[in-house]
Parts: sequence; structure tokens; C-alpha cells
Amino acid sequence: MAKSFFIDTTKCTACRGCQVACKDWKGLPATPTKQRGSHQNPEDLNAKTLKLVRFADHTIDGKVVWNFFSDQCRHCIEPPCKIIADDLAPGSVIKDEKTGAIIYTKETKKISADGFEEMRSICPYNIPRRNEETGLIVKCDMCIDRVSNGLIPMCAKSCPTGAILFGERDDMLALSEKRLAEIKKKSPSARLLSKDDTNAIYLVAHEPKFYHEYACGIVNGKRFA
Ligand code: SF4
Ligand code: SF4
Ligand code: SF4
Repeated sequence: MAKSFFIDTTKCTACRGCQVACKDWKGLPATPTKQRGSHQNPEDLNAKTLKLVRFADHTIDGKVVWNFFSDQCRHCIEPPCKIIADDLAPGSVIKDEKTGAIIYTKETKKISADGFEEMRSICPYNIPRRNEETGLIVKCDMCIDRVSNGLIPMCAKSCPTGAILFGERDDMLALSEKRLAEIKKKSPSARLLSKDDTNAIYLVAHEPKFYHEYACGIVNGKRFA
């Protein structure tokens, strides 16, 4: 049975512990940033930032709402990036059958700039990034080194509010449905994102467009939900 994340954005305080813990575990350096009038830093995912807490403020039903979204690879059940990569460089994207983790390997170096653009544009969540120094294409790997040794991903371990949970897919599905029912009582627009197609299930209290452009995935210019 695959493993899944359940990311409950209603519990996220934007402390960014997950973002920093990811960098720490992966040995990735800080990304130079500048003041852009937002607390979101850096501006986007990049080769050295595989997990990014996104900030968005909107007026919804007359109230100012600040939404946080801990963004990362969704570990798609049938990953479109792998379909492209299998043609361009076999073995560059693999699926770990035990956990469902989608993992990029050193073979990604063989993928051309055009091939990379193809992979990135087919990803419904705009996740893959290229490290221009190493030539590798990179993203979250579900902390496969930890998970294959019975540990949970570093981002989940570091989250102080329980906004990132990780475990057996069936358990995460059950938990997410239970929590959705609770949140819906106060926020009828609440929904689960990417529940059926990926191993990273998100709970949002408002329409996905109020969180992040790719919150619910875009395919051929069309949003999933
Ligand atoms: Fe690939 Fe994107 Fe799915 Fe991650 S979210 S497995 S990068 S298609
Ligand atoms: Fe980073 Fe690991 Fe969390 Fe992925 S699972 S975002 S690699 S800490
Ligand atoms: Fe939100 Fe948890 Fe990440 Fe903090 S560690 S930003 S509460 S998801």
C-alpha cells in the first residue's frame, strides 16, 4: 500500500518549519531573496527549495483571509512527468512501488533543455526544477531515505501544528475525509485537492484559486477542480 501526505492547510500557521527542515535534511543552501512585499520567500520553488510555503491574501465574503499552502511534489499515482522522462532518458524518473514515491535520478542530466521544459509543462502542479550547476532535474523525493527506514519525511516531522501528516494512504484518506467534514461545517467551500490522483492530499477551506495558481493542478490550461 502506498504512503501519502495529508496536508491540512487549515492548521498551517506559516511558520515555515517544513521549508527549513527540508533544506536542512537535503543539505540545500538558503536562496538569496529580496523584499517583494510578501512574506513568501523565495518567490517560487527552485532547485534549492523543494518545499515552499506559499502566502496569499484575499477578501472572501467581505473578510480578509490569509491563506498558506505548503507546496511540494504531489507524487502522482500515474505521474505525467515520468511518461515524458521515460521517452527522453529511461530510468531518469522512477516510481518506488512500495511507497508510491516518484524519484528523479542522476539520469535526468541526460534530458535536454527542451525535454525539461516538456516535463515541467506537463506536470499539473508546476513542480520540476533544473539545477543549472549540476544539470540534474530535482524535486521532493518523499524523503525516501527516511521513509524506507521507517521514519516519516522531515517536513512532516518538523510541523508543530500537525498540518503535515504522513502515513498509509488509506489512513490519510480516512483522516482527510473526517477533517473535511469538520471544516465544512464552518466553511462550505472546503474541499480536498488531488485526492484520487496523487499521494499528497490537501485540505483547503476556500476555493483553490485563493491559495496558489497550481493548487489543484492545471492540465492543458484547464484546472482539475
Ligand atoms: Fe511528477 Fe509533477 Fe506529479 Fe510530482 S507532481 S510526480 S513532478 S507530475
Ligand atoms: Fe522535502 Fe522530504 Fe518533505 Fe519532500 S518529503 S518536501 S524532500 S522534507
Ligand atoms: Fe505550516 Fe506546518 Fe509548514 Fe509550519 S511546518 S509552515 S505549520 S505546514
